[in-house]
Amino acid sequence: MTKQPAADLIHHPYRPPEGFAAPQAGVYKASTVIFSDVAALRARDWRHKHGYTYGLHGTPTTFQLEERIAALEHGLQCLLVPSGLAAIANVDLSLLAAGDEVLLPDNAYGPSRALAEGELHQWGITHQRYDAMDPADLMRRIGPKTRLVWLEAPGSVTMEFPPLQALVGACRARGITTALDNTWGAGLAFDGFACGADIVVQALTKYPSGGGDVLMGCVVTRDEALHVRLKLTHMRMGWGVGGNDVEMVLRSLPSLPLRYRAHDTAARQLARWFQGRPEVAQVLHPALEGSPGHNHWQALCGADGLAAGLFSVVFHERHAPDRVDAFCDALRLFKLGYSWGGPVSLVVPYDILSMRRPGSWPYRGTLVRFSVGLEEPAALQADLEQALQVLG
Ligand SMILES: *Cc1c(COP(=O)(O)O)cnc(C)c1O
Repeated sequence: MTKQPAADLIHHPYRPPEGFAAPQAGVYKASTVIFSDVAALRARDWRHKHGYTYGLHGTPTTFQLEERIAALEHGLQCLLVPSGLAAIANVDLSLLAAGDEVLLPDNAYGPSRALAEGELHQWGITHQRYDAMDPADLMRRIGPKTRLVWLEAPGSVTMEFPPLQALVGACRARGITTALDNTWGAGLAFDGFACGADIVVQALTKYPSGGGDVLMGCVVTRDEALHVRLKLTHMRMGWGVGGNDVEMVLRSLPSLPLRYRAHDTAARQLARWFQGRPEVAQVLHPALEGSPGHNHWQALCGADGLAAGLFSVVFHERHAPDRVDAFCDALRLFKLGYSWGGPVSLVVPYDILSMRRPGSWPYRGTLVRFSVGLEEPAALQADLEQALQVLG
């Protein structure tokens, strides 16, 4: 019996042979990274993927996901962060200082605006909201303090598809950095960098995870200097991600294109069906004719292009908000909840008037946002049909 069981167990010399191969990547987890000698410790380089420095700054597992997401987005560098919102915050905190201004689309992801109204405002960074459907409005708002313009296609919840290239063009002409939130497109519907964006972020929480059980974000770039700047902030803020969560996303990624298509097909089928329903004033789905920005979607994604499994429905004004709430409550397969991209279909009623600039929202009825999961579309349609009964 050894007299030092703990030391022997911790320092057991066996190492498995190199060369093991399996369909899924191995999962490395670390806070501490062990260096071979003092020279290696002193030569550590957190900027690049040549080696390892500390668990927070990367492991073989996180590097692997970063490289795959960079490829998915047609970028060259990628940073993983603990949520989609952290990806937005990483960009804002890295590129903005007191006295600067950031421009956000009026239909931006809500928490991005909340960050601008909260911490950014508190730190002396101002923001303005521009009409994402009107490049001239964006151009008018760009001023000497403007450092960063956020883009999103389509707008969160209200689903207007903007003239993305024209918006980016207006910024590039003035030398202003652009950041695209590409969560909806997931790197599949269109190429954000080809549109001219400098930075592309995604909530990997949505389709790349695909399970409704992981929170993660990414910040993708094509410019090394910009990447290093973002990585510095990432490092100082301590925005690392856990190996088990990375493993989940790595495992889901191969099926991302298939799942995205399935969500898309089912959502279009249900959105078209809603277009024929008498209770509905407007269906908002960029791939459907008559939806705001449909021509922009078609120009960017192609006539037979892809779209996410999301759409919104504006009910006729005659259906009072509390009846629309009752419709949502009556749904059985569609669950009430935020986020999207997982197997479970979701529904959320929104009060859009409270979210938009006064006078900028043309509808009066209640809006409900649907995220179509992976259930059979016929089963989902039957669920919608039975729940619509409560509207009378
Ligand atoms: C969900 C979402 C985010 C934030 O992602 P989290 O991981 O939930 O923080 C950011 N942008 C868009 C467009 C989203 O839909």
